[in-house]
Amino acid sequence: EIRVRYAPSPTGHLHIGNARTALFNYLFARHYKGKFILRIEDTDQSRNIADGEKSQIDNLKWLGMDWDEGPDNPGEYGPYRQSERKDIYQPLIEQLVAEGKAYESYMTEEELAAQREEQKANGEMPHYVDEYAGLSPEQKEQKIADAKAAGIEPVIRFKVPVNTTYEWDDIVKGHISFESETIGGDFVIQKRDGMPTYNFAVVVDDHMMKISHVFRGDDHVANTPKQLMIYDAFGWDAPQFGHMSLIINSETGKKLSKRDESVLQFIEQYRSLGYLPEAMLNFIILLGWSPVGESEIFTLREFVKMYDEKRLSKSPAAFDAKKLEWINNQYVKAADEDRIMHSSLLQLMKAGKIEENPDPMRVEWARKLINLFKRQMSYTAQIVEFTDLFFNGPEDIDEESKAEMATDDALPVLKALETQFADMPIFDTVNILAAIKAVQKETGIKGRKLWMPIRIAITHEMHGPELPESLELLGHDLSMKHLRAMIE
Ligand code: GLU
Repeated sequence: EIRVRYAPSPTGHLHIGNARTALFNYLFARHYKGKFILRIEDTDQSRNIADGEKSQIDNLKWLGMDWDEGPDNPGEYGPYRQSERKDIYQPLIEQLVAEGKAYESYMTEEELAAQREEQKANGEMPHYVDEYAGLSPEQKEQKIADAKAAGIEPVIRFKVPVNTTYEWDDIVKGHISFESETIGGDFVIQKRDGMPTYNFAVVVDDHMMKISHVFRGDDHVANTPKQLMIYDAFGWDAPQFGHMSLIINSETGKKLSKRDESVLQFIEQYRSLGYLPEAMLNFIILLGWSPVGESEIFTLREFVKMYDEKRLSKSPAAFDAKKLEWINNQYVKAADEDRIMHSSLLQLMKAGKIEENPDPMRVEWARKLINLFKRQMSYTAQIVEFTDLFFNGPEDIDEESKAEMATDDALPVLKALETQFADMPIFDTVNILAAIKAVQKETGIKGRKLWMPIRIAITHEMHGPELPESLELLGHDLSMKHLRAMIE
């Protein structure tokens, strides 16, 4: 049976890279009609954040994923939080110690740090050197007794087999192999606080939860040989691994790191800017997988159907925020009017442009305003900037627009329009259009020479949304005010 899992550590919010990992496990499970499991890897208690788990779950759901087993809907392999599985890990750790495959290590953090410094100074890669090497059994016993007397808590280290090759056929990267000598020495499987380390717990859980395939980020490649050693030590079969390619920032060409502030990296940030989940998901899947053909816009359901692990990309994926905007704009344009209206209205409220609980007339006004910009929106937070004219009046006029206004035709057009507008009973697009036509007739000026002065007078810019609609939404008084300001 195909069983895959996404195993976030609740040490932060859902990151683009983690969302990608989750999605590729999800696609694999759904395509092959297997099970998708959510497991919370919360053993590093000093790094967990208060709402980490909740926020991971919220954002996964927001993206449209669901899972068959998880902390919120346990199946038969629970608990689904590692911090609740200590009773499962403990006897297994003891078993390895009893079999001589793991041992107590009393070196303190200070001693370990000193060892690393010394190795670095000698130009060596830092690694743990067996603290009991060369000691007789009595000396070893004495050393342990001294450490205990000094109140030092031990960690448990896994004894790395010598001269052994660890290899696997990676679903994404192909054949990978590590020599046991290169992995940095006997590694910790249980910390001083009694919690297992990631490398230990992940093996036990993947085995116990009958995980068949593991897709994860390629930052875990170096952990895989350690995990294979533990599978071996217990005599368990390992799942198949697939390590997803690196994500790089397309602007800098560097590996995308959480510290890189030039690009937003957390799902929540995009969510609060009004990106649509289907667009986000579409973009993220393309960051590691390529469909056959030219089209790039697909629903999750379509991705599930088309999915083929052979099309997972081996080369680094470029994170391109412009592409994300483009994809989102495709979805915004196709989206239901009400949905974009609602999301944009929230953005305008958040920005303090529209009051909470607006009356129905104001909502109607906002709806027209939002529709005016819907097609050009990449994400709904942009509505605030796009509609600035309607809340704060026009910006300063630039040189180019000034020059347009200096032409002989500009003033007669504006004056005639002022007269037309002066006693217009209903200021709507139909009447506005009729007024502009009348100005054309009266002055004999038409086309760009007619429209441009009006546009600049009203918006101070040469480009912008539909003019009659903009005038209607600005309203009679403000439109008159801007016209007059330009005439004087
Ligand atoms: N908790 C690990 C992480 O967040 C999971 C790695 C794995 O999938 O094995 O990176």
